[in-house]
Amino acid sequence: MEENLIKRFMTSIKCSVCGQRYEVDNVKILGHQEDLWFLSVSCSACQTQCLVAAVVKEGRMPKVTTDLTEAELDKFMKMDKLTADEVLDMHSFLKGFDGDFSRLFSQK
Ligand SMILES: [Zn+2]
Repeated sequence: MEENLIKRFMTSIKCSVCGQRYEVDNVKILGHQEDLWFLSVSCSACQTQCLVAAVVKEGRMPKVTTDLTEAELDKFMKMDKLTADEVLDMHSFLKGFDGDFSRLFSQK
């Protein structure tokens, strides 16, 4: 799957805060592991930044998990092999995060 296709797919997703659709220019691809892609998107309307994991299989609609934490992403990217289900499981397990991305990012 081409990066451009992933980006174009992301424009069909709406910002969870204000409902604005993401724009291609606001999608940054962080990396991928086989069918699992990691993206960072920012909303052009409200500037909310969001981390996204998308499972992309040839000929199928991608399955997207949004609102990942940086720690989750990091964990996923270091794993050797994992399935979409594992990502979704871990995501729901770690859902207690307070969602304060600006604090997270400013620690870098
Ligand atoms: Zn927004």
